[in-house]
Amino acid sequence: MVSKDDTWERIYRELAKCAYCGFCEYACPTIKYGDFRRQYGPRGRVNAILFAMRQGIITIESIHSIFTCLECGACTLHCPAKIDVAKAVRYFRALLISGRVEIPEKIAKHVPSIKRR
Ligand code: SF4
Ligand code: SF4
Repeated sequence: MVSKDDTWERIYRELAKCAYCGFCEYACPTIKYGDFRRQYGPRGRVNAILFAMRQGIITIESIHSIFTCLECGACTLHCPAKIDVAKAVRYFRALLISGRVEIPEKIAKHVPSIKRR
C-alpha cells in the first residue's frame, strides 16, 4: 500500500467520522446509475475509500465508484458531519492514477489513465 502522508491522515480522519446515515444519498446525482447502485453514491464512495485505507483492498466496484463521482459537493451540504467526499475522491483518484497504490493488474486496468502528449 501507499506510504501515508499528512493528507492521507487528514482524509482518513474525516472519512472515519461517517455514521453511514445515508442523508447524503438523496442529493447525489450519480446514485441511480451503474451496476453497483449504492457504490455510486457518497456513502458507497466513503466506504470504498475507507476499505482501501484500512484493509488495503481495492475492487473493480471501488474503482467504478471513485471514478464516477462528479465532485459536485452536493453530498457535503446534506452531511451532518460535513464530510468532504469530493476532496477524498480527488485524493484517492490521484493515488490510483499515479500508481502509488499497489493493486493487481486485472484491477488496475479499470483505472483510467492520463496520456500525456
Ligand atoms: S461529490 Fe460525488 S458523491 Fe458527492 S453528491 Fe457529488 S457526485 Fe455524489
Ligand atoms: S451524510 Fe455524511 S455521515 Fe451520513 S452517510 Fe453520508 S457521508 Fe456518511
